[in-house]
Amino acid sequence: MTLTYHTLERTWDVIVAGGGTAGAVAGIAAARAGARVLVVEAQGSLGGTGTNAWVTPLMRNVSGGENLNRGLTEEIKRRLRERGDSAYAPNGNDNWFNPEGLKFVLEQMLLEAGGEVLYHTGVVAPLLRQKVEGSKGLRAEGKEQSAESHNPQPMAHIHSLVIHNKGGLQALRAKVFIDATGDADVAARAGAPFHAGDEDGVHQAMSLRFTLAGVDTARLYEFLQANGQWQDSPDFLHFWMVWGRKSSLEPMFRQAVDDGVLQERDGDYFQAFSVPGRAGELSFNCPRIRADLNDGADPWQLSAAQTDGREAIERLTRFCRDYLTGCEHAYIGLVAPMVGIRETRRIVGDYTLSVEDILTCKKFPDSICKNHYPVDIHSVKGGAKLLHETGGQAPYFAPDAYHEIPYRCLLPQGVANLLVAGRAASSTFEAQSSIRVQQNCHTMGEAAGIAAAWAAKAEGDVRQVDVAALQTEMRRLGGNV
Ligand SMILES: Cc1cc2nc3c(=O)[nH]c(=O)nc-3n(C[C@H](O)[C@H](O)[C@H](O)COP(=O)(O)OP(=O)(O)OC[C@H]3O[C@@H](n4cnc5c(N)ncnc54)[C@H](O)[C@@H]3O)c2cc1C
Repeated sequence: MTLTYHTLERTWDVIVAGGGTAGAVAGIAAARAGARVLVVEAQGSLGGTGTNAWVTPLMRNVSGGENLNRGLTEEIKRRLRERGDSAYAPNGNDNWFNPEGLKFVLEQMLLEAGGEVLYHTGVVAPLLRQKVEGSKGLRAEGKEQSAESHNPQPMAHIHSLVIHNKGGLQALRAKVFIDATGDADVAARAGAPFHAGDEDGVHQAMSLRFTLAGVDTARLYEFLQANGQWQDSPDFLHFWMVWGRKSSLEPMFRQAVDDGVLQERDGDYFQAFSVPGRAGELSFNCPRIRADLNDGADPWQLSAAQTDGREAIERLTRFCRDYLTGCEHAYIGLVAPMVGIRETRRIVGDYTLSVEDILTCKKFPDSICKNHYPVDIHSVKGGAKLLHETGGQAPYFAPDAYHEIPYRCLLPQGVANLLVAGRAASSTFEAQSSIRVQQNCHTMGEAAGIAAAWAAKAEGDVRQVDVAALQTEMRRLGGNV
C-alpha cells in the first residue's frame, strides 16, 4: 500500500505547529498582526504544558521589582483574573492560575483575532521546496548584521506541513511556519541541526501532574501548621518534601516507605498547592517519572512515562489519604492528559544562548525577551540543580539583573521560512533550563508571531524581518523588550 496525502486548496499566511504555551500566543500575535493564521494542535485545547500538563504557576520572572514579560502575557493574566481563574499567592507570585480557565482564555483570544485552530491533529513532517539561495544576514537597526548572524549556506524553504487526523494525511500550505511543538518536530524533520539532553544526551526529568479533589482544606491547613509546614493563608496551601532537604514531612514519608505505601523515589520530589477557582482541590507537581524514562521525544518512553506516572499517582493518593489529615476522602480530580516534559530537542539557531550569556547578563541588539529566572535543572542524575538569585558572585545574581534572548535563537539554521518558539529555542542544556519558563515562552511566541506575519507579507524569509521595528512594535503592544 502506498501512503498518499492530499493537499488542501486553502492556504494560510502563517501555520503554527503546536498550540501550546508559545504556540497559542504566537497564533494570537500573528493574527493580530493581520495574518491568516492556523494553529495545528495535537490535543483538544490550547495551552500545552500550561494547560494539558497542568503546569501552574507561571514562574515569576522579575528583576528590580519589574515583570520582565509583559505584552500578551499580561493580557492573559488579566483575563484569567477577571474570570476568577487566577490568584495572587501570599508569597507574592501573582501567576497562579486554573489551567481549565487558561484553555478558554487562549482559545477566545485566538478566535477574536481571526485565527483558526485545528485540534486533534498531529504535524507529521514539513515538505520542502528545493534549496534556495543563502539568506542574507539578519536585519537589526536597519542594517545588515554581523558575520555571526550571516548564514551563507543554501536555505530550505517549507512549502507545506503534512498533518495527520481523522481525515488521514493532508498537506497544509502557508508562507511562514512557526514550530512551537516544544520538541522542534518541524525543524528536526526539515533537516535543521539540533541538540538534545546534556553532555551525555540525558534529559531533565519528566513529571506527570495530577490533582486531588474532595480535600477538607480547613483541616489540612491546621494539620500542616501543626506539622511544621508553615502556611501563609488557609485559602492558599503549599507543602512539599524532598529527601534530605529538611522538610518537616520527611519522617511521614519515611514511615510510608517503611509501610510499603510509597517507594523511595516518590520522595525525590513531592510538592502540592491550591488551585485558584477550584476549592477543595490540590494540584501536585509530581510524580517524577522513572529516571531511565527521560526522553519525551521518544514515543515509547513517553508512553511508558504515562504508565509509570499513573502507578505513582496511585501510591501518592493513598499516602495523602492515609497520612495527611483533611485528605481522608480525597479522590483523583484529574491526571494531566500530557506528560510534563522539561527538555527534549533544542535547535541550533543563528545564535545559541549559553549559561555564560546568562551569568554575564548579556544584552543583544536583536533582543526579543528579558529573563531573570535562574538555571533550574531537574536532573535525573540526582536532585535538582537550582542556581538561586542569591547564591553566587556573577552579575546575574544582582536583584536588578537580567539577560536578553536574541531573535536569532528562534531561527533554525538552514531553513528560510521557519521560526522556533518556546523551550526548543536555540540554547545550551543549562541555558534552556533557565529560559524555558512559561512567560518567556509567551514572549518568544509573541515575537515569533509578529515576525512571521511580517515575513509572510514579504517573501517569507524570517531573516529579512526588521528586528528594530519588531522591538518597537512589541513595546507599542505593552512588551518589555
Ligand atoms: C513538570 C514541569 C513543571 C514546570 N513548572 C513550571 C512552573 O512552575 N512555572 C513555569 O513558568 N514553567 C514551568 N515549567 C516549564 C514550562 O511549563 C515549559 O517549559 C513551557 O510551558 C513549554 O512551552 P512550549 O510552548 O515550548 O511547549 P508546550 O507548552 O508543551 O507546547 C507544545 C504544544 O505542541 C503540541 N504538539 C507537540 N508536538 C506536536 C505535533 N507533532 N503536532 C501537533 N501538535 C504538537 C503539544 O500538544 C503542545 O500543545 C515546567 C515544566 C514541567 C514539565
